[in-house]
Amino acid sequence: MSKFRAIRIDKAEKGTTAAYTDFDEADLMDGDVTVRVTHSTVNYKDGLAITGKSPVVRRFPMIPGIDFAGIVDNSTNPAFKPGDSVVMTGWGMGETHLGAYAQKARVKGDWLVPLPQGLSAAEAMAVGTAGFTAMLSVMALEAQGVKPSDGPAIVTGAAGGVGSVAVALLKKAGWHVIASTGRASEADYLRSLGADEIMERKELSEPGRPIGKERWAVGVDTVGSHTLANVLAQTKYSGAIAACGLAQGMDLPTSVAPFILRGVSLLGIDSVMCPKEKRISAWARIARDLDKKSLATMTTHVPFDGVMDVARDILDGKVRGRVVVDIG
Ligand code: NDP
Repeated sequence: MSKFRAIRIDKAEKGTTAAYTDFDEADLMDGDVTVRVTHSTVNYKDGLAITGKSPVVRRFPMIPGIDFAGIVDNSTNPAFKPGDSVVMTGWGMGETHLGAYAQKARVKGDWLVPLPQGLSAAEAMAVGTAGFTAMLSVMALEAQGVKPSDGPAIVTGAAGGVGSVAVALLKKAGWHVIASTGRASEADYLRSLGADEIMERKELSEPGRPIGKERWAVGVDTVGSHTLANVLAQTKYSGAIAACGLAQGMDLPTSVAPFILRGVSLLGIDSVMCPKEKRISAWARIARDLDKKSLATMTTHVPFDGVMDVARDILDGKVRGRVVVDIG
């Protein structure tokens, strides 16, 4: 039997435990493609899974990690052959299906997308689920028909993973970008990604009025709770907000006022079950539009051994931008 290195989460008397282990390939779950994982990343959800702070993991034992890039080892799926470079995000990986923090993964070929042309495996994971979600958010806003000439774009949780990529993508698409952050020290970083204005997090994070001055035409909200309520209350007539995260909270203490008085649209963004065709077009757009220099600026690299520390840091809001994990 061949063994490989992996992080394993087990149920404990109180909560869960996470530790590095040698995992037996025979214990991988069903799938028609086995991949040698070369790179992964640490998303907010990975932090929740590893620390056990939220019941993200729904099968034990579990290998956490919701996304990877790697090379196909063997495949009975006609779409993939050994040696192909692939990217995997979502579909319950690291939650219900054994995940990415492992030197090997076995998945359904239907879940995989070919590594987009123009991106290396490390760059694809610098984007990762977070960047992919930012792209889905921008595409949803565009599909709504709102344009940069209609007003600025706001990004909340801007110095985080989704936020950083959203800032860069919105700027590239021609928007005047307002970056809301709790980290004043990251103002220069956010400007380097394309932010035109920096807004202090607390301007939006406290309970606010149901409707306020019209300030932006679109937004990407990674934070939820009072922040999203305030973002909606200050969205211009016919504007749209993409809601993709819950860093402040899962609640949404708002009213119908922005919707019935201003025709504002609230667009829900989910990356996990996103259909394959949309995935492929989002990745193609990322490869085309996300500036490589900005991507490098927002990315730090850690070895496989560094995952546990980053998992704790990301929940404490200490991680800037994106983190690539070198698995191979
Ligand atoms: P990060 O931790 O990298 O970013 C979150 C950012 O939110 C932080 O950097 C911080 O930004 C801000 N923040 C943190 N805590 C608070 C708080 N209490 N109040 C207000 N702002 C806060 O995480 P990701 O970017 O990876 O993910 C962001 C969110 O998006 C998460 O909730 C995640 O679960 C969700 N997500 C959803 C997906 C989907 O499919 N819908 C896919 C991927 C992620 P700053 O320091 O700039 O203030």
